[in-house]
Parts: sequence; structure tokens; C-alpha cells
Amino acid sequence: MSNFIKNVPGNGKFLYSCFEKYTNKDIVQFLKNQGISVKEERGNRVFPVTDKAQDVLNCFIKRLKQLNVHILTGEKVEKINANDTECGKVIKSVKTNKQIILADKVILATGGKSYPTTGSTGDGYNIASELGHTITKIKPSLVPLETFDKTEELQGLSLKNVKIQFIDKEKDKIIYEDFGEMLFTHFGVSGPTILSGSAHLVRYKNIEELLKNHNIILRIDLKPALSFEKLDDRILRDFEQEKNKQFKNSLDKLLPQKLIPVIVKETGINSKKQINEITKNERIKLVQTLKTFEITIRGFRPIEEAIITSGGITTKEINPKTMESKIVKGLYFAGEIIDVDGYTGGFNLQIAYSTGYVAGKGEFE
Ligand SMILES: Cc1cc2nc3c(=O)[nH]c(=O)nc-3n(C[C@H](O)[C@H](O)[C@H](O)COP(=O)(O)OP(=O)(O)OC[C@H]3O[C@@H](n4cnc5c(N)ncnc54)[C@H](O)[C@@H]3O)c2cc1C
Repeated sequence: MSNFIKNVPGNGKFLYSCFEKYTNKDIVQFLKNQGISVKEERGNRVFPVTDKAQDVLNCFIKRLKQLNVHILTGEKVEKINANDTECGKVIKSVKTNKQIILADKVILATGGKSYPTTGSTGDGYNIASELGHTITKIKPSLVPLETFDKTEELQGLSLKNVKIQFIDKEKDKIIYEDFGEMLFTHFGVSGPTILSGSAHLVRYKNIEELLKNHNIILRIDLKPALSFEKLDDRILRDFEQEKNKQFKNSLDKLLPQKLIPVIVKETGINSKKQINEITKNERIKLVQTLKTFEITIRGFRPIEEAIITSGGITTKEINPKTMESKIVKGLYFAGEIIDVDGYTGGFNLQIAYSTGYVAGKGEFE
């Protein structure tokens, strides 16, 4: 439980109650009951054995049909109407582009604003706001980052087993650090560690100002398994064997090809210098560069490219035990539309499952 909450930096505590009622084990059991075989991979991540998301979708559709749930597709919800009563607002109907459907209970689960091609265009925010709900600032999260320099020649390069740190240069403070995989793209950086880091950057104080002033640095330790001294010993040994080579041709064993010219330039050492002419200070500079390769972050990619949306319907206006609105009786929320967001690793899907389950049960439990 606390592990789940820890992985939801955006208002994780709001989810205690609903995660207690519907956990990751429950959804796995549900899938198994529906005949889906699952497998567990590195990092306790669970997938259908077939590796097909479609199989999970089909299983949900099958279950809805078994329960005689009427599914409408190709119809857009435009508005939710509520009656003003003595006890406050009470849900009345849902207006789509084709019809008005009377309802005394409605779950609004229109997702966030990211990846609009998947259908989540942010409509739900307007619908909820018209009913009096507060929408906190919508921002991209789990999103690739743009950089000021250095990455163009590196695009397509994927690094495994590196340590990354995001640094606030103004305060000399580590905002986030991680170990694992990252990727260089035509605009900057992406990959699991970067996406997770973005979730911290997005909510870091004065981030826009810091980015504008070139004060957010991505520091990469390209050789985290070796201490400074051990890496120096290793380079010394390599150099012994490559004495007559030029510097630029001496790093093949240490680095991927694409990275070599960039690192060489970063050290400031003449790329054509003979290895046996490299000074101790120059070698130390090389070790420093490999341990602390720095790139300045320019900003976030647009929300359309973010895996999830940070922000949404404020949790203050939702009952955490039932997911019912505190403003409109009979209106419930589930999933990414709520102002909660987690890291990569299935936590956002679990948020959708747990809140969806609780909203579905509502006050009938
Ligand atoms: C590329 C990508 C990869 C991801 N990978 C992971 C992952 O590995 N693990 C993880 O945990 N999470 C992942 N996520 C995030 C996860 O998919 C979402 O957090 C989750 O799907 C949110 O569920 P939801 O039901 O709230 O919203 P959504 O899944 O976005 O569903 C919202 C639905 O509402 C419909 N809708 C919107 N507006 C209207 C309207 N006006 N009328 C009618 N229907 C409407 C949309 O068409 C859509 O079907 C990923 C997201 C993306 C984009």
C-alpha cells in the first residue's frame, strides 16, 4: 500500500481508501477470472501472456456484456445537467451530441488532456467546471524533455544502466535521481528515468523561471558502477594498450560510438592528441566528464506528448471513500480526470482501476 502511494507523487494520499478497496492483486485476479493468463516481468510489472493490450480490452467488453451493460460509442458527451434542490445540486441527465439520457448517477471518466488521439481531449474538465468544480492547473507529466544543446548528434542513442540526476543549479540541489535507461531524441531526452524525473520537475517550485534561466541541469553518470578512482584505473589500463592511438580513437571499449565525439569535445582535449601525450589532468577531466556529463534542460514537450496529465479535478471536492463529488450529488469521478498522477510502472492504470471500482460501487457498498 505505502509503496503504491509513494509512486503517486501527485496527491497519492487521496487514494489510500480506494486503493485499500481495490488493489493491484484484485485487478490481476479479475483478469485471471476472465480467462486472461498473466506473466510477471522485471520490476513486478504484470502483462497478459499474449503481450496484447487488446486482450485486456476484450475481456472488459466481454464482462460488461455479461452484466447487460449497454455500451454507446461514437457519441460525445457535451454536458452533464444537475437540478438545484434544497440539498444542493443533484445529478439529472447527460447530454450527448445525439440525445439526453436521464440519470441519477453518473461517473465522469474522460481521462486527461494528454495523447488526445486516444480520445482524451480534456472535455471532462469543462463539463465538471460548468457544474462548479475547481480544476487545478493542467500540466504534462511523464513527458520527454527538450534540451538546449548536445543531443542532436546523439539522437536515437539509448543508454542502459546510467545514473541520472536533475539539479537545480541555483541552489545546487538534487531534485531527482534515478538509475536505469534513458534515450536521446531529436529534441532532447526521453526514456523511463527521464519520464519519471519529469514528474518531479513539473511540480518543482519556480520551475518555469529556473528553466528559462538555464538553471535545470541533467547530470548523467555514464559509469555508475565504477567509483572515480576505479574508472581512472580502468582508463589508465586502456590507455596503456592504446598508447599510439589518437584520443578520439581510444574510447571504443568505454563508450557507444555516437557518444565518443561528444565526450571528446566536452573534455576540451585535442581529439587528435596521441594517448601517450595525454596528461594526468587531462585524464582526470575525462573521468570527470564520464561521471558528470551535463546537459541543460530547456523545458517540457507539449502535453499532447505526455503519457499522463498532472492536475485535474481538485481532490478537495471529491469524497475519497466513494469518489462522489462534494458539489453535485450523484456525480462520481474516476481515473486521470482527478488531480492525481503517478510514475511509470502501471501506477496510473491502477489509479484508474481503483477509483473506477470505488466510483462504481459508490455509496451502495
Ligand atoms: C502512450 C501511453 C502509454 C501509457 N502507458 C502506461 C503504462 O504503461 N502504465 C500506466 O499505468 N499508465 C500508462 N499510461 C497512462 C494510462 O493509460 C492512463 O492514466 C489511463 O488510461 C487513464 O484512464 P482513464 O480511464 O482515466 O482515461 P482514458 O484511458 O484516457 O479514457 C478516457 C476515455 O474517455 C473518452 N472521452 C473523453 N471525452 C469524452 C467525451 N466528451 N464524450 C465521450 N467520451 C469521452 C475517451 O475517448 C477515452 O476513451 C499511458 C498513456 C499513454 C498515452
